[in-house]
Order: sequence, then C-alpha cells, then structure tokens
Amino acid sequence: MGSRQVSTSWQGKNVTVAGLGVSGIPAARVLHGLGARVTVVNDGDDERSRAQAAQLEAEGVTVRLGDGDTLPEGTELVVTTPGWHPGKPLFAAAAEAGVEIWGDVELAWRLRGPGAAPWLAVTGTNGKTTTVRMLAAILEAAGLRTAAVGNIGVSLLDAVLGEEEYDVLAVELSSYQLHWAPSLRAHSAAVLNLAPDHLDWHGSMQAYAADKGRIYEGNQVACVYNAADQATEDLVREADVEEGCRAIGFTLGTPGPSQVGIVDDLLVDRAFVENRQKQAQELAQISDVDPPAPHNIANALAAAALARAFGVPATAVRDGLRAFRPDPHRIELVEEIGGVRYVDDSKATNTHAAEASLAAYDPIVWIAGGLAKGATFDELVASAAKRLRGVVLMGADRALIREALARHAPEVPVVDLDRTDTGAMSAAVGEAAALARPGDTVLLAPACASMDMFVNYNKRGEAFADAVRALAAERA
Ligand code: ADP
Repeated sequence: MGSRQVSTSWQGKNVTVAGLGVSGIPAARVLHGLGARVTVVNDGDDERSRAQAAQLEAEGVTVRLGDGDTLPEGTELVVTTPGWHPGKPLFAAAAEAGVEIWGDVELAWRLRGPGAAPWLAVTGTNGKTTTVRMLAAILEAAGLRTAAVGNIGVSLLDAVLGEEEYDVLAVELSSYQLHWAPSLRAHSAAVLNLAPDHLDWHGSMQAYAADKGRIYEGNQVACVYNAADQATEDLVREADVEEGCRAIGFTLGTPGPSQVGIVDDLLVDRAFVENRQKQAQELAQISDVDPPAPHNIANALAAAALARAFGVPATAVRDGLRAFRPDPHRIELVEEIGGVRYVDDSKATNTHAAEASLAAYDPIVWIAGGLAKGATFDELVASAAKRLRGVVLMGADRALIREALARHAPEVPVVDLDRTDTGAMSAAVGEAAALARPGDTVLLAPACASMDMFVNYNKRGEAFADAVRALAAERA
C-alpha cells in the first residue's frame, strides 16, 4: 500500500490529549512523534497515572494530572479517549473556543497514508467482536492481507501506522468511538442491531442510534443492515453515502433481492450476484457456523455481506466461516455430563445478548444475575419462559430477575442463592445440575455485568467452566 507520510502540518501544533489510558498514551506518543506539542490532561492523579506521566514527560510530552476539565491555553485540537463523557466541561470549553475534538478512531483515520487499506466497519449493540473476527477470517481465506482491529483490542493507530501492510481492515467500532469520528468514511459498514445500551453516556436512544448511524456516512459500496431490526434500516436511509452505494439487508429468512439470508440449511447471497431478481449464490452451510445459534448465523451473514461487498468469492466465505473459532465465554460448550450440555455465555452481560442465547436452546436451566446496570428483565423473561426448566440466581441484582420470573414464569422453579461471593458459582452449577434432565442445556447467560462478584466476565466464565469440570470429574 501507499507511503505512510503524513503532512508536515503537525509541526508545533498544540494538541491536547484527553485521558491517560489505552488510547490516550499511544495517541500522545504518535502526535509527539509527528512534531506536535502535546499536553495530556487526566482526571486521576494516582500512583499509576503518575508513573505513566513520568514516562511520557521523559519523552517530551507535557502531562497535567488531577484536572481533566480545563482546556490548556492555546489548544488547537483535542484528541479524546472515546469513553469520556460528552458532557465534560473540557469539551464545552473546546467547542466554545472553536477547537475540533477527535477520538482515537478519527485520529487513525486522518493519519492513514495515501492509498491506505480501506475499512470494512462493524457496529451494533451485540455481536461486533464475533462478526469482525468472522469477517477477518473470510478475508484471509480469500488471500487478502487483513486484521481484526479497533474496539477489539488491537489499536487502529498501530494498524494504520505500523510496518505491516494490509489490503483491507476489519474494524470494530463502539458507539463512543463513532461519536468522536466525524470524517470516517468506510468502504462498507454494518449495524448489526440496536437495543438500549450505554444510554447514560449518550443521553437518549435517539442519540445512541445517531452515533451508531455515523458508521454509514460516506460508505462507498454497501450499507449492511439487519432486516429484522427496522432501526438499522432507518439509519441507512438517513445516511449520506457515495453515489451508487447500496443498502444490503441480512435476514434469517429467505432473502429478497439485495439481501443475504437463509434457504433451507444454506447461507445464500441475493445481493452480489449478476441477476439478483432471479438468482442466488450459495455461500456456506449453516453447519459451517460455530455455534449455529440464530444470532450467530445473523453475525455470519453480516460478515459475509461485507466480504462480498469487497468482492470476495463465495468459496472464501465458506472457508473463512469454517476456519473461525468463537472467542472464549461466548456460547462456549464446556462439557456434556449425563446428557446435559453446559454452555458458558458469560459475555451475555446485557439482556439483549442473553435473549439471543436463551433463544438458541430448549429446554434450559438458566444461571443468571449480577449487576443489572439499570436494566429491566420482563421482556427477557417473558420471551424465554416457555423454554425454562429452572433458574438459578445469584449476584447483587438477582431480585430484579426473580420478580420478573414471578410475573411471567411463576411455574418455573427458581433457586435463589442469596450469595455474591466467588464460591457461589460452584453452588450454582450444583443446583443447576440437580434441576437439569438429559437433553437439557445448563446455560450461563447472566444478562448482567459481573463486577459485583468477579473481576470481569472472563473470570466469571472461568469460574463456571471450573465448576462444570469439577462436576464432570466427580461424576466420572
Ligand atoms: P460485542 O463485541 O458487540 O460485545 P460479542 O461478539 O462479543 O459482541 O458477543 C457478545 C454477546 O452478545 C455474546 O456472548 C452473545 O450472547 C451476544 N450476541 C452475539 N451476537 C449477537 C447478536 N447478533 N444479537 C444479539 N446478541 C448477540
């Protein structure tokens, strides 16, 4: 790909980097390397930030700890950590002074060299990481040089400025990142779904949706939407795209023209074929998708649509999906014990995610609970009630789920563990095993965050898997 030169306009430019975090520190280093005069401002002034500040100061970057709200004198540009709340006084001060605010994604986008790899971008409330990984696997299967980057843990700045050359990037973007990325123009993009999440940050569902919708702005080839989620299609309609850019739907039903979807046990393309009125192209079998749960097939279809928009052959979609393995704690089968499957979906940290995994099994012994983050559980419980063999609850906000169960599934047996200690998981698995019958699935899909009991959802999933393996060893 093209050269990595960046214009000299950075020389001596006063840039304020907001936040000393995973995106702030690399941004400060890169900008300093380009010749900008960089000041990092940070709310915290603890031991860790002091150590980080000392390191950056030694490299020539100015750092102000303990005051993330005052805009340094002479600031010409603010580059912010995406998670900083848009209502912070720093941003009001920047707006007042007519100073632009960029997030980490905007910075990476602006620093791409001429002829740099195009971006295939993915956002949505749930399924982003899975879809981006599937997409990267498909692009790789087509022989393209690519990487899964962005909100996924691999920095876009590294991808854009590093030595490695790419033909195309599979980019995961959060709603925060999109909020601060006004000039991003993807080759093609997908919004997988839209359910209320992070509303405390965005202020309203409309504002959240509008930020997600930015991913379609200026798309060149395809805006991929979820035909089962009208809100995603509305965002396509509202977007200002390049001439000739197409709206492509994905559906778990039979696809219409300009859609990808399912016919019998096949994933098929009726969008990127010559005669889409009459023809469809087989892409893969449902059994090529791991796991073949409905929401995950939807993720595979979205990934396939983006790859096809980039011109990837159908065989690469199949080969890429076959090569793909899900990340841990996302509907992961841990063990089958006495005809009962034990599935870890610890990553189901909100009700929308849990609803998707509950929809994939029948009958279910459901293990749930944790921190509700303001969610309500009526809809979730009502949608799953018929398939529940029993429920085991734990964690700080379990009463909210128990009350919803009493309203919508009063006949389902509930074990309320009344515990928030780490050992509760092993007790939960024991209770679930006692409720389950051969052919059932014991599903950890907490619909809640984990931090009341565990460091993070990984640890929660590991605790579940450990308890299940201990049970298997006991029964062996
Ligand atoms: P994200 O990166 O958006 O958090 P992940 O791919 O990591 O998404 O999946 C997170 C959780 O969301 C999964 O464990 C699963 O329970 C659920 N999930 C995945 N895909 C979907 C989807 N398309 N619709 C609803 N829920 C989903």
